[in-house]
Amino acid sequence: MELNRKPLLLIVDDEPANLHVLVESLGNDYVIKAATNGTDAIGIAQDADKPDLILLDVMMPEISGYEVCKTLKEDETTKDIPVIFVTAMELPEWEVCGLELGAVDYICKPINIGVLKARVSTHIKLKQLQEQLVKLSNQDKLTGISNRRHFDEYFDVEWRRNMRNQTPLTIIMADIDYFKRFNDTYGHLAGDVCLVKVAEVLNSVLQRPGDLAARYGGEEFVGVLSNTNAAGAHQIAEAFRSGVEKLAVPHSGSPLGCVTASCGVAAMVPDAAVLPSELIALADKHLYVAKDSGRNVVISSRERGNELV
Ligand code: GH3
Ligand code: MG
Ligand code: MG
Repeated sequence: MELNRKPLLLIVDDEPANLHVLVESLGNDYVIKAATNGTDAIGIAQDADKPDLILLDVMMPEISGYEVCKTLKEDETTKDIPVIFVTAMELPEWEVCGLELGAVDYICKPINIGVLKARVSTHIKLKQLQEQLVKLSNQDKLTGISNRRHFDEYFDVEWRRNMRNQTPLTIIMADIDYFKRFNDTYGHLAGDVCLVKVAEVLNSVLQRPGDLAARYGGEEFVGVLSNTNAAGAHQIAEAFRSGVEKLAVPHSGSPLGCVTASCGVAAMVPDAAVLPSELIALADKHLYVAKDSGRNVVISSRERGNELV
């Protein structure tokens, strides 16, 4: 959830009078979306602009709140939205049922507005903390782009997605040239500044949905391009390579005179008979060819004559 805007609440109740009370009480602190039935509620929850929390009535015609909650928890895109039941069904066994379905809280009608506000605020804060943790655990501390852990997870998901869709998945492996000498000449701190700049270039060329820029380790970076063939990815890798060169960071220890990077590109339509690690190994192999052929160059499947896509 963006910290500079009010959190978004979805309030679901088939009784307009109840909705009115909730909207009146919470409208100052939150942006509110409302639904009067389960089908609309699920539709709104699946929107790109996700609610940060859902207040959900239980007894509604057609689809009950319990069924709505179950559907939301089974859907990868909505399962992390906290749900609070707000209901007249006060028996403890109903409360247990609601909590077992994955709701974070259960509030009985008649509502005490003070209690409701406090609980909503608590769960919003918990959600913000959880999102911060996920972000931190996915982020490389120095450069701010994705870290190796996030890359591994993302690559696995995209491998399976492209296998299902029978579309090409491409990896760009990039490595800064003569970086040990750079550290030796200018110091480790200057090396860190350089890594940040190179990461910014990689991030700026990987802007399509489905693209990911990550630090693979040390001075190695990786780009994941979903639904992109080797020729398309080669262009992106070339934009990265030339972007690094254009940074014009002086490097007296390199025969090229400035900081440069080499790239290996490999593309594949994922296949159950092939291990995902084979695609990475192929990009790595191309990277070593790039290093062998003088550095500051992009080598891809296309150029090696063993195009897989
Ligand atoms: P090549 O052109 O063959 O890639 O040579 P290289 O010197 O870049 O490669 P090598 O693998 O020998 O050295 C990588 C260097 O990257 C070693 C290390 O000092 C530096 N390095 C790795 N991680 C960091 C980091 O977080 N900060 C800084 N400043 N340097 C790092
Ligand atoms: Mg290197
Ligand atoms: Mg290296």
